[in-house]
Amino acid sequence: MRRALVAGNWKMNGTRAGIAALLDGIKRGLSADLETEIAVCPPFVYLSDVLAALESSTVAVGAQNVSEHEGGAFTGEIAPAMLADLGCRFAIVGHSERRALFAEDDATVARKFVAAQAAGLVPILCVGELLEEREQGVTEAVVGRQLDAVLELAGPQALDSAVIAYEPVWAIGTGKTATPAQAQEVHAFIRGRIAAHDAKIADRLRILYGGSVKAANAGELFASADIDGGLIGGASLEAGEFLSICAVAR
Ligand code: PEP
Repeated sequence: MRRALVAGNWKMNGTRAGIAALLDGIKRGLSADLETEIAVCPPFVYLSDVLAALESSTVAVGAQNVSEHEGGAFTGEIAPAMLADLGCRFAIVGHSERRALFAEDDATVARKFVAAQAAGLVPILCVGELLEEREQGVTEAVVGRQLDAVLELAGPQALDSAVIAYEPVWAIGTGKTATPAQAQEVHAFIRGRIAAHDAKIADRLRILYGGSVKAANAGELFASADIDGGLIGGASLEAGEFLSICAVAR
């Protein structure tokens, strides 16, 4: 039985005061018997504040990105061991905004995945196709290629301590959500790709859906057999909305 996970990706949003208010709202609204695992991924500069504020809560903290390097002369980068040292549990790798805007290719993403795990972080590996790729019917080829880059470098065993997020790029921040059937089809494909290496690991692997998830559409998406929760952007910036999404992920 896979435990649902809902992770909020705050992207480059927030101020100290705004984040304190958001965390207050999350902590106040969090139900003690919630079965879903919850994580928030704030901008790097607020990680310490967020970790301190959530110290006695069950909400985990993740980073939105991580360096592929262990440390040294890499001005402006954040080493995975630094994030682990702070108390982060997760690190998002390969978000489509990093792939598109910061030229992160499959090989870079795979190295970040390996570096994050080596430091004890749980990578949340994002995969997903562009709109034109979906229209050309190459969604599985694209997602398969993104997965294979990690499988080849890290090995299939590495997927046992990782999370995958399927995020169709055309659904991120656009208000256009994949239908439950479209999402389930790709999630089943991802699980099958991992199962070809190791069926038990594939069965345990949590595969999140991301792309304009809101409280209003989360229930139907999360009802699909291979969708184990969500990676939530915009809707994670509002405590009530985020908690409603967490409540329907079981
Ligand atoms: C994301 O940034 O990972 C995301 C899914 O964003 P949104 O929910 O805003 O589409």
